[in-house]
Amino acid sequence: MSEQDQEKAAKRAQWEEINRAKALARQKHGEEAALAATRPVEVKKQFQAVKGTRDLLPPDTSLWNRVERTAHDVFGTFGFGEIRVPALESTELFARSIGVETDVVSKEMYTFEDRPSDLPHDELKEHPPEYAEKILGSYEQGDLPKTLGNGQVMQELRKLLPECKAASQINFVSDDEQTTREAVKKYNELLVRLAYVTSRISFGEFLSLRPEATASVCRAYIEHNLNQLPQPVKLYYMGPMFRRERPQKGRYRQFYQIGAEVLGGNDAPAIDAEVIEMVMTFFDKLELPGLQLDINSIGHNAPECRPKYVELLRTELRKVQDQLGPDSQRRIETNPLRVLDSKLESEQAIIAKLPHIADHLCDACRTHYADVKSQLQLRGVIYRENWRLVRGLDYYMRTTFEITAKGLGSQNAVCGGGRYDGLVELLGGPPTKGIGFAIGEDRLILSLQDAGKVPARQGRDVYIAWMGEHAYAAAVRTAKVLREAGLSVELPPAEQKFGKALERAVKLDSRYALILGDNEVSEGMFTLKTLADGTQEKYTEPQLLERLTQGDGKL
Ligand code: AMP
Repeated sequence: MSEQDQEKAAKRAQWEEINRAKALARQKHGEEAALAATRPVEVKKQFQAVKGTRDLLPPDTSLWNRVERTAHDVFGTFGFGEIRVPALESTELFARSIGVETDVVSKEMYTFEDRPSDLPHDELKEHPPEYAEKILGSYEQGDLPKTLGNGQVMQELRKLLPECKAASQINFVSDDEQTTREAVKKYNELLVRLAYVTSRISFGEFLSLRPEATASVCRAYIEHNLNQLPQPVKLYYMGPMFRRERPQKGRYRQFYQIGAEVLGGNDAPAIDAEVIEMVMTFFDKLELPGLQLDINSIGHNAPECRPKYVELLRTELRKVQDQLGPDSQRRIETNPLRVLDSKLESEQAIIAKLPHIADHLCDACRTHYADVKSQLQLRGVIYRENWRLVRGLDYYMRTTFEITAKGLGSQNAVCGGGRYDGLVELLGGPPTKGIGFAIGEDRLILSLQDAGKVPARQGRDVYIAWMGEHAYAAAVRTAKVLREAGLSVELPPAEQKFGKALERAVKLDSRYALILGDNEVSEGMFTLKTLADGTQEKYTEPQLLERLTQGDGKL
């Protein structure tokens, strides 16, 4: 090897070492995984839906559509309008509304930092000093959030920058191998430090995939000044929600809710009762089996009402503390109401002896609760009082309710709802009354499927078995006419022998096969075969349409 080649090989080796160090730095920075995910895979990988998410396929989707159509129809008859809120919101919105101490916010939200796309993070790979310089520039121009943490990071970057610049000037043609090695080592160390420092930058706002929609609806109410409209404003929504829960039957990480909120106006018990009546009407329309509506009142957050009861509960719980499990023991101090949620078998007898909130409500809340119950009776809504049905957050008040259904095992709650008069104000809006509910659509569907309430047939109305060029043109035209009349039509894209075509028509669960050969076309007649009994008759096109859309043969 010539001296020149040796020098080149040494240079290559040095660069390889630098690249290894850079890769390490990137890995620390969290980019390596992201890059690997976008790189084409050498080994063929079977992609699967992300854990806890699933595809909804036909024929199931037609049941989903029926459920959603029924919601549109029923909620419309109660004067509710649809609202579509974004799937992404500021994390802060949920932290404030649901509460940072809840599982949903502290563990289950899908949250990420929304980095502006034009930030110079790619440069890190090749030009660390320029990268540091650009980050500093972006910060100074206000493109990066001026948080306390970012301020510290910038200070460290300002110190690192001159060192980085100096270290990038490695002289590979140095005679002294030892000096070069040490320079490379120092440079590598700086890269790792730089990657560590920059990994602590907060690049943008934190966003979360919505774990529920009530907070978003309240945000929209405030943002669009909906309090200027005639009150109350009645809104409903449907769509996917996201929570990183442990998946099981009836519990998913992407699940669907159908919900409604009544915002503004007053807190007349009739509003609570009408909201509950609406959900029950919806479930009845769907013939959901084994429905059980539980209601309760949890009073309100004034010293003479719920807080007084919570203290009493705490005192009583302390007396039996030793007999409770660790979760309940902890909750005695943090949130005693949550002890009432406990499903632990060993705690049930103890909980049964605890004081009931209904006996400790203030006068106004007691009257409100009594009125809600009589309003429900007036509407013929059957309910059960469940004193253990509680909510852990301060802004929830008075009416709470839950609906369970059959066929769902332990995850049998299909709907949860209640009054939350303080929420809009908590989110920065005016004092506003509010009540709403959320239905778990996935569970609702499971329960309907369990009861055999699936759409009757999924097949086609008409399968067009055509043969020949003229027949094809007529088939295309006829398919158009029949589809316009609302029929579901299968038009095979390629010619098939009649035998094969009929086989496929049966496989697709078609009711009729429309036989179209060149003969039929020249005669202007269509042969319609009823696949259930094999009978067939000839029709002109207008007769055919009449036969399929009117009278006995109507589809
Ligand atoms: P929540 O918003 O927690 O009050 O839940 C309201 C309803 O949404 C529940 O009664 C369930 O039917 C449904 N639900 C909540 N979490 C999930 C989940 N992870 N998977 C499926 N359905 C859920």
